[in-house]
Amino acid sequence: MSIIHSDATPILELRNVSKRFVKPLDTAARIANVFGANMQQQTVHAVDQIDLVVQAGEVVGLVGESGCGKSTLGRMAVGLHSLSEGSRWWRGQEVRQMESTAQRKVQLGIQMIFQDPYASLNPRMRVQDIIGEAPVVHQIISASEQKSYVENLLQRVGLDPAVLRRFPHQFSGGQRARIGIARALAVKPEFLVCDEAVAALDVSIQAQVLNLFMQLRQELNLTYLFISHDLGVVRHLSDRVVIMYLGKVVESAPAEEIFGHANHPYTQALMAAAPKLEVKKTTFFAIKGEIPSPLNPPSGCYFHPRCPHAMPRCAVEQPSLREIAPQHFSACHLTEFSGG
Ligand code: SF4
Repeated sequence: MSIIHSDATPILELRNVSKRFVKPLDTAARIANVFGANMQQQTVHAVDQIDLVVQAGEVVGLVGESGCGKSTLGRMAVGLHSLSEGSRWWRGQEVRQMESTAQRKVQLGIQMIFQDPYASLNPRMRVQDIIGEAPVVHQIISASEQKSYVENLLQRVGLDPAVLRRFPHQFSGGQRARIGIARALAVKPEFLVCDEAVAALDVSIQAQVLNLFMQLRQELNLTYLFISHDLGVVRHLSDRVVIMYLGKVVESAPAEEIFGHANHPYTQALMAAAPKLEVKKTTFFAIKGEIPSPLNPPSGCYFHPRCPHAMPRCAVEQPSLREIAPQHFSACHLTEFSGG
């Protein structure tokens, strides 16, 4: 089931995608097998049968606790992870079926911005090369245009163009985040997947970088998948919010709807854990219990060991996503009693 309805062809669509990782046996298990034990490899269902549809120009916030599969889904959206199941579509065409030239265009059209800009910037490269290498390699610009091209990009992200001979260690965290954004923009993407892109920054710097993202959205007509554990970050950015729990989407709705009428008990717990979203970091600490291991998820509804409303049925039957209001989807057995 698709989780958004629109007549327009989406810019990106993930249809019923899953990602499984196999955890190889460690040495002790392999030795035990030599002596007749029957130790099996374990499979993690990091992403389990998710549909995600993003319209051009939309900002979708993808929220969940650490280990819920949101970063894996982001990497699948970008093409950094292969799909174990399902298909990936770009502007109405399945990417796998495209010719290699068209696939390369998609690859450039959707870029990822990572949490730790320092780790993702080569410390031995100067800013000019960090930002300017890919557009030359992909023949978006010629080598002779590189300097002025990078200077323009630096200005666009709020940095002094004079810094282009410097190395990453000569910048603050916020400036490095801007360099990471300029590097992503250098190949003229239409879609940015931002994975905890401001999580490592101080709150005041976070606000500045979030403003930059929104300014770039206007100026360059960008589409975003904004991945965050922080509901406060997502609230101010997103047109629509998707909540993930243990590899599955549990709720999805337009941002106003989800913040005004959260339906799923997990989303409600996230809201309750964040009484003052505007003020500071949103945390998940108030939610009862730990997130279970994806190696051994609970039976039935994955949230039932932590859910204050769990019924006997919840331990045996997995709820499916149902549309409970226009474009508002929730996966909870309680929705059947609410007339949704
Ligand atoms: Fe809670 Fe049951 Fe709904 Fe799961 S299905 S969220 S356990 S009430």
